[in-house]
Amino acid sequence: MTRFIFIVGGVMSGIGKGVTAASLARILYNRGYAVSAVKIDPYVNVDAGTMNPVEHGEVFVTSDGMECDQDIGTYERFLGVDLPGINSITTGQIFQEVIRKERGLEYNGRCVEVVPDIPNEVIRRLKLAARQARADILLVEIGGTAGEYQNILYLEAARFMRHESPQDVAVVLVSYLPIPHALREMKTKPTQQAVHALQAAGLQPDFIVGRAAQPIDVPRKRKLAIFCNVAEENVISAPNLSSVYEVPLQFEREEFAKRLCKKMRIPIRKPKAVYEKPWMQFIHRSQKSTKTVSIGILGKYFASGAFVLEDVYISVIEAIKHAAWERGLTPKIQWLDSEAYEQFPQKIKELKQFDGIIVPGGFGARGTEGKIGAIHYLRTKYIPFLGLCFGMQLAVVEFARNVANMRQAHTTEINPQTKFPVIDIMPEQVTKIHEKILGGSMRLGNYTCKVIPHTLAQHAYSRKKRTNIAVIANERHRHRYEFNNEFKSKLERLGLICSGINPDKQLVEIIELKNHPFFIGTQFHPELRSRPLNPHPLFLAFIEAAHKKPSV
Ligand code: GLN
Repeated sequence: MTRFIFIVGGVMSGIGKGVTAASLARILYNRGYAVSAVKIDPYVNVDAGTMNPVEHGEVFVTSDGMECDQDIGTYERFLGVDLPGINSITTGQIFQEVIRKERGLEYNGRCVEVVPDIPNEVIRRLKLAARQARADILLVEIGGTAGEYQNILYLEAARFMRHESPQDVAVVLVSYLPIPHALREMKTKPTQQAVHALQAAGLQPDFIVGRAAQPIDVPRKRKLAIFCNVAEENVISAPNLSSVYEVPLQFEREEFAKRLCKKMRIPIRKPKAVYEKPWMQFIHRSQKSTKTVSIGILGKYFASGAFVLEDVYISVIEAIKHAAWERGLTPKIQWLDSEAYEQFPQKIKELKQFDGIIVPGGFGARGTEGKIGAIHYLRTKYIPFLGLCFGMQLAVVEFARNVANMRQAHTTEINPQTKFPVIDIMPEQVTKIHEKILGGSMRLGNYTCKVIPHTLAQHAYSRKKRTNIAVIANERHRHRYEFNNEFKSKLERLGLICSGINPDKQLVEIIELKNHPFFIGTQFHPELRSRPLNPHPLFLAFIEAAHKKPSV
């Protein structure tokens, strides 16, 4: 029998529901339970792939090619597993499936209704995810905040499930407790109202996770317990911590796993050292790191009005942290705006103050020339560079323009008429675009990459052990354009090394340069596979090279 733990948000979004779900998953996993996690996104999009990054944040890609919310990435990092795409649910998918069944007369002629047919389809999906994962416990994070119209049908699904078997379902409300500057007191009223909103949907929370700048003190725990109808020991304090990876430790201090097991009437096991110890060691490494390594991320999806959105590159940031901590370094990450480099090319010189620069994935023309200018600077000034997907493609463009003298070289994504289409659309993509099949149709998910012996990439993947054996890597993809093999031999003659190749289609997966401390571009997204306990080899190698760079 699978137990289901629903994680619901209160007061506002962005307070760490995903990290709460992932941390809960981790502490239950540490106890030897088979755990999996599902994210429900209440938007109508079928997946996250068609949304603008500024609107949505990072699009995480699973190994089986689902474009989903960044929370799936958080779960993967905390659990150290690859999750399947079915663990990402959207309203688009639920309605699509209900309508498909209706058209196929699968409802046997009866009237198909929003309630109960939509919640029932949600429940079918949750049970399917639980079955496929053989989960003892399935964490289900419902996106949005209690009281929103959008997620009401998911709360209804949770209510149905709890009605059917109350002891198998727990509800955790993750809420925010503000400490207004002028009052200097932690206020519980917004959380009380969030509980009322949840109760109006027929759900009483069993636990309240109180997110706040500070720990919740006893008087306020008591107040929340009384006014929210929750046992006092089930009010869990979740103050700000220096890293999200410390949240499982905080939950242990609050005896959260014990209380959850008690609520769900499953054995209260002790954490197993084999699972818990590596995590603790990782936390110690992160806290003990003294020397810094400064990394710039050159992108364009940061600005939203007066604010900077870091979520867009969350997996890149986490991958940098994992690798840096593994080497005992504290990463200092700075945002660099490629559009500013386009307007003020002399600003590019500021790159020399960094130990290494990452040019991450991207789409479209805006800021592209700024990135190409920056890559030129990094190549010629021997500054460690890691290009991810679009970053790799633009490194090829820069090399073609400035080393191979093909001045108009470009990717056909930006200039379809270019004389030198060194990056070009994949043939199977052309028909998809013509037929307007644009959602979920990129080259997505895992593809193999044969890493060529005696290259920097091979050196990184084999962790320096044996440089004469080809490594086979499995890496995640999300792109429509590709290195154009027509230009391969010409660029190779001039010094570009194609150090990773997809053996089935001969597609170039990794490029690098000789006579440079570290210059690597990958067509795939290594950041999506980096884990705290298992940093990605390319990020490790990049951080090592960055650490070696003499400071200016
Ligand atoms: N825009 C490029 C492509 O579609 C790169 C995509 C990316 O960086 N994820 O191929």
